[in-house]
Amino acid sequence: MNQYDVTVIGSGPGGYVAAIRCAQLGLKTALIEKYSTLGGTCLNVGCIPSKALLDSTEHFHNAGHTFKEHGIELSDLQINMNQLIDRKNGVVKANTDGIQFLMKKNKIDVIQGVGSFVDKNHISITPTAGGEAQQIETKNVIIATGSKPTVLPFIKQDKQRIITSTEALNIREVPKHMIVIGGGVIGLEMASVYARLGAKVSVVEFMDSLIPTMDRALGKELKRILGKIGIEFFLSHKVTGATREGDAVTVTATNPKGEEVKFEGDYCLVAVGRVPYTAGLNLEAAGVEMEERGRIKVDEHLQTNVPGIYAIGDVIRGAMLAHKAEEEGVFVAETIVGQKPHINYLLIPGVVYTWPEVAGVGYTEEQLKEQGKAYKTGNFPFRASGRARASMDLDGFVKVLADKETDEILGVHMIGPRIADLIAEAVTAMEFRASAEDVARMSHAHPTYAEAMKEACLAATENRAIHM
Ligand code: FAD
Ligand code: NAD
Repeated sequence: MNQYDVTVIGSGPGGYVAAIRCAQLGLKTALIEKYSTLGGTCLNVGCIPSKALLDSTEHFHNAGHTFKEHGIELSDLQINMNQLIDRKNGVVKANTDGIQFLMKKNKIDVIQGVGSFVDKNHISITPTAGGEAQQIETKNVIIATGSKPTVLPFIKQDKQRIITSTEALNIREVPKHMIVIGGGVIGLEMASVYARLGAKVSVVEFMDSLIPTMDRALGKELKRILGKIGIEFFLSHKVTGATREGDAVTVTATNPKGEEVKFEGDYCLVAVGRVPYTAGLNLEAAGVEMEERGRIKVDEHLQTNVPGIYAIGDVIRGAMLAHKAEEEGVFVAETIVGQKPHINYLLIPGVVYTWPEVAGVGYTEEQLKEQGKAYKTGNFPFRASGRARASMDLDGFVKVLADKETDEILGVHMIGPRIADLIAEAVTAMEFRASAEDVARMSHAHPTYAEAMKEACLAATENRAIHM
């Protein structure tokens, strides 16, 4: 029987990163993955394919809507859905092959199949395609089995017309009318993809705001901007059912007045969150305890109640984000060898890859109000940025929240061009506990979108913004 220092179950961004860090630290490492490709939800049916489609459709949208203003005239603009999906598949393959290469490079044994506890130190692996199960012995286990889409019990998802994000990444036609249940991250990214392709898109959201867990100013501005590309929003609507007849779907919901309303379309995307995935692990055999909502219970070292068994990523508490899973993978590997790693969960940024992009880090204004914290605000609109004017990306703003007394930055919330990358500046500043004035006094290259961060910090510092 093969023996390992560490066995990682699940090859998503949590699992594969944990495996690499373990190998770097000299631990003999196995990685078990039930699918035929590595990379988990993120690389196969999540972050990477969605961003590939978002990029392709943004080009198409611009070709049809903004190129003319730049002096570029096109006639007979067409979308080739097969090529769009094939390119996306190629991007996914290049990324998943890349992980396979990294496993080889780091001498990590990849074992294909469903990993299942026999006891706390033995894992059996059953190949997904059938065949003999094998068993391995291990000193430590890192569970990184991720999550799957939430199912609404009153909706039967046939995965052809009433679909999850996985199927929404593979539609080879432009829908006539896509009804999206959920105005969260997946709902809005996929709504953008199909609206840009010319589909009618209706988003039905239970709460009174889009992306309701982010700073409320972001959801409000995003609704206004996405409305301009024709997406219709129905907030404070509680979906009560969805049915299919032939190629037609009907979604029913209760509106804020308590009346029943109906939406008729040809596709319905259900995007109401994700739930941790632990099926097949046989956690009982190892005695691993769970907490509420199907998550694996872990302590501050991300160790379960069983010494030597750890869990990371979507399967435990916290935001379901690839970069959060990655940080936790590194954290556990370093913990196993006796190091003292640290994760600042407050500074894990959240990003929505619509156009314009949306990003936030630290406390939201709503959280600061709830804490009774004295804070000040600095805002800078992209319409006042020379760089944004040059690229015709005038929507959005940067909002900086700073401590009223000390000027320390407490939260940064942005909506605008390329701010998925710009949020890294806010994370760096906050990790070093910068004041708004610290950032305001740093030189930012001109003309860049990043100048909006400097200007918002200037605005927070005694209202000293220069270009506003
Ligand atoms: P996963 O990536 O879910 O990987 C878990 C792996 O474990 C899977 O490959 C699964 O097959 C395997 N597995 C499960 N059980 C077993 C078992 N018993 N034996 C063997 N293998 C097993 N996050 C971002 O940060 N940025 C984004 O832009 C982003 N976009 C997204 C877009 C979509 C459409 C979706 C659905 C998600 C997106 N996410 C994004 C979320 C991100 O994908 C997840 O947070 C991330 O993948 C979690 O990583 P993980 O390692 O915990 O689990
Ligand atoms: P989400 O939690 O972001 O949004 C779900 C939305 O559905 C919420 O706004 C919620 O109020 C709404 N909702 C719930 N029940 C409803 C009902 N019955 N009727 C109408 N609306 C209802 O979840 P998601 O968009 O499914 O994404 C799942 C996870 O994947 C998230 O945790 C997210 O972090 C991650 N993800 C991240 C990215 C990114 O980082 N860019 C992209 C996609 C997904």
